[in-house]
Amino acid sequence: MTQEDKINWLKENEPILWANTFKIAKGELSDKQTMFCCCGKLATGLHEDNCRKFLQQVKNETAKRLQEYIK
Ligand SMILES: [Zn+2]
Repeated sequence: MTQEDKINWLKENEPILWANTFKIAKGELSDKQTMFCCCGKLATGLHEDNCRKFLQQVKNETAKRLQEYIK
């Protein structure tokens, strides 16, 4: 299973768990960033909501946390 498969599996089979964990992981990763986003731009909340690089990090982190739920 690739990382992308895991993410898709979780979204499809555990949508509520995915959404909740995603929200928590996003908040934590956002707090960890400095003034600048992982992509180098200014890390405003609005930017993070639209930054593909940041959101990909959040998805990877969420998939990691929910690893044990994947059957
Ligand atoms: Zn960014």
